[in-house]
Amino acid sequence: MDYDVKGHLHQILDTLPQGVRLVAISKYHPNAYIEAAYEEGQRVFGESHEQELRQKHEQLPKDIEWHFIGHLQTNKVKYIAPYVSMIEAVDSLKLMKEINRQSEKCGRVINILLELHIAEEATKYGLSLDACRELLEAGEWREMSHVRICGLMMMASNVDDQDQIRREMQTAADFFDEVKAKYFANDEAFCERSWGMSDDYPIAVETRSTMVRIGTSIFGPRVY
Ligand SMILES: *Cc1c(COP(=O)(O)O)cnc(C)c1O
Repeated sequence: MDYDVKGHLHQILDTLPQGVRLVAISKYHPNAYIEAAYEEGQRVFGESHEQELRQKHEQLPKDIEWHFIGHLQTNKVKYIAPYVSMIEAVDSLKLMKEINRQSEKCGRVINILLELHIAEEATKYGLSLDACRELLEAGEWREMSHVRICGLMMMASNVDDQDQIRREMQTAADFFDEVKAKYFANDEAFCERSWGMSDDYPIAVETRSTMVRIGTSIFGPRVY
């Protein structure tokens, strides 16, 4: 293999404090790279395309915990429901309902995160803070016994301004405290704050991320 996945993986792991888990984002990277990280003990991997994930799930060890991190169309939920470990970017009630429906069919409970839209870029998916408040207040999620809401996920703006990134992540951290107190105070499962990527994960760690999603810094640039 021409790329030192193992070395890069350990460089990242060495900088992560206790309580911050690594989701190794393997989209567009070959199985050999995932196997290299797996050999070093990494078990949590993230993918953003259903077909690519399906192939990798079939070909790679079955104790890998796959996180779906991309925008998920409702008609694709049924394909990943039998095996996916967490769906990170849930940004509508409609999607949550479909996950619940497919998860029930499989006799599973699927972990999900609610994706927040805080970044300034208009193209990104996710719930505004108010939309997220409304969704939680409406309470329909309480009846969905086959999804487990484990926390929040967000992507900061793709900018050089470190202060802006920090502000956005801090907004997410404060919002986590707000909804935790209001809706999940007695729910231990609601504990995850998924933010931080290759370029901004040190700031994410400072703003109480529990789960960083890092691809490029481990596997190198993606070949599309
Ligand atoms: C691709 C991707 C990442 C990883 O980005 P890198 O810059 O390669 O670390 C993290 N989160 C999401 C949602 C992604 O789509």
